[in-house]
Formats: sequence, structure tokens, C-alpha cells
Amino acid sequence: MTPETRAKIEARLRYHEDLGISSLFLNRLTARVEVPLPATAAPVATPAPPLRPASSRPVITPVLPILQAPSLFDSVERVEGDTLERIREDIGDCTRCRLHKQRTNIVFGVGNPKAELVFVGEGPGHDEDVQGIPFVGRAGKLLTQMIEAMGLARDDVYICNVVKCRPPENRLPEKDEIATCSPFLLRQIAAISPKVIVCLGGCAAQTLLGTNQSMARIRGQWFDYRGSRLMATYHPAYLLRNPAAKGDVWNDLKKVMAHLGLKPTRLPPR
Ligand code: URA
Repeated sequence: MTPETRAKIEARLRYHEDLGISSLFLNRLTARVEVPLPATAAPVATPAPPLRPASSRPVITPVLPILQAPSLFDSVERVEGDTLERIREDIGDCTRCRLHKQRTNIVFGVGNPKAELVFVGEGPGHDEDVQGIPFVGRAGKLLTQMIEAMGLARDDVYICNVVKCRPPENRLPEKDEIATCSPFLLRQIAAISPKVIVCLGGCAAQTLLGTNQSMARIRGQWFDYRGSRLMATYHPAYLLRNPAAKGDVWNDLKKVMAHLGLKPTRLPPR
């Protein structure tokens, strides 16, 4: 191992210690080294090709005794007995990435800690930054209307974002900001263990599915995500600019409702 690689691994392990993760296990059973993407996901009941074909993964010959254990990157994000309170405590007054410099509030997430349905957005905007609550601006009002049209209230579901601090001028979160913040999102999802995750927009979908495929390609299909089902749909901010796409989103949400046994109680927002 080169000194540079060693230094990188040490830095990474210190970072995970910061997150409250002290043990890591390599899955020697499959003995694969995976690119450190935040999640594994596979589409179900869809003709789309797998997001990461197995053949693209480098395979190493096992040199250690076979041991049953979670894979390295499963362990990285999983914390035994994790709770939303503990995750919030671990985030603390975060300065791990540059986004902390201009934020007013960390926007952790709101809603039912036992929600069957979790909505994941991109990152806080101006209103969210000021109030410390996700999806309270114009896009948030549209999301609230969609949730209510599904026969639910905001308190029934859980709402959070990929990054917890507002990107300046509402720009897209950068790769390194996502890499720094998304372990907390993965822990939130694991702690809630919802039946369905709805990704609002490409950032959430690409982060959780570990893909860079476009929204057009992945929207409206079911994916398996660590015991939950995942549906990607357009972000409400996109709908504010392209109201004609609201029908597509409603069709996606109807699939979610059918899976959760919900009946729409009102017309979707126009
Ligand atoms: N857009 C997001 O992605 N998240 C919010 O919380 C608000 C707007």
C-alpha cells in the first residue's frame, strides 16, 4: 500500500469515527471490492438494464477465510440501534463541508420517525435555511399539496434532503458535499425503515441508487433499496417551471399509493 493510499484510508476511517461508526467489516464471502457508492440498488420488474452490471465490478481473489459479515459499505452507513435523535446529535454543529459557511440552519428532516413513506429532496433552499425545516417554500407547498392529495398529512410521512445545508444561490450540491452529507441521509432512512422512498429529482435518485443515469431514464419505475422500494419522480421545483409534468408525477405517486394501500382523497394540484 502506498503512503498516499494509507493516508486516504486513515482520513476516511477518522471521518467514519466522527459519524459514530467504529467497526467496519469486509464481506469476504463475496470478496468484491466495490467503488464507494453510497448504496446498492437494483430495479425490480423493469426491462431497464441493471444500474451497475456485476461484470463492471473489479473482483479480487479471496485471501482471507470466508466470513459471514455485512459488506464494507453496508457497515459504513449502518449504526446498530440508530435513531433520528442520535443521527442529529452526530451531525452536531457540522463544519464537515463548505456548505456550513453560509447556512443559517441545518435542515435535518421532519415528520413521522416511523413513516412508511419518506420523501427525499436535494437540499434546502432559502426558506428552508431560514426556518430549519425542509420543503416549506414554493416547491414545498406543492409537495404538501401532493402529500395531501395522496390522503396523507406532512406529519404522516418523513421529509428530508440529500444535503442538510443550503447550497449558495440554490446551486446543485457538489459531489464532495453529497459524499460528506449522504451518510447521514442513509442512516435516517435505515432508522426509519420506510416501505417506500420517493426521490424528488435527480440528485436524490442518483445519490440513493448510486447511478448517474438521467431522471428521464429512471423515473416512474420501482427499484429495491435495502428492503424499501424506491420511486424516483420529478422535483416539485421542476414542476413549478414545467406544470405539464405534474401528470407524470401524479402517475408515479399513484403507484406509491397502490403499494401503500392508499386512496387519493382529493384531486392532485393543477
Ligand atoms: N428543495 C429541496 O430539494 N429541498 C427542500 O427542502 C426545499 C426545496
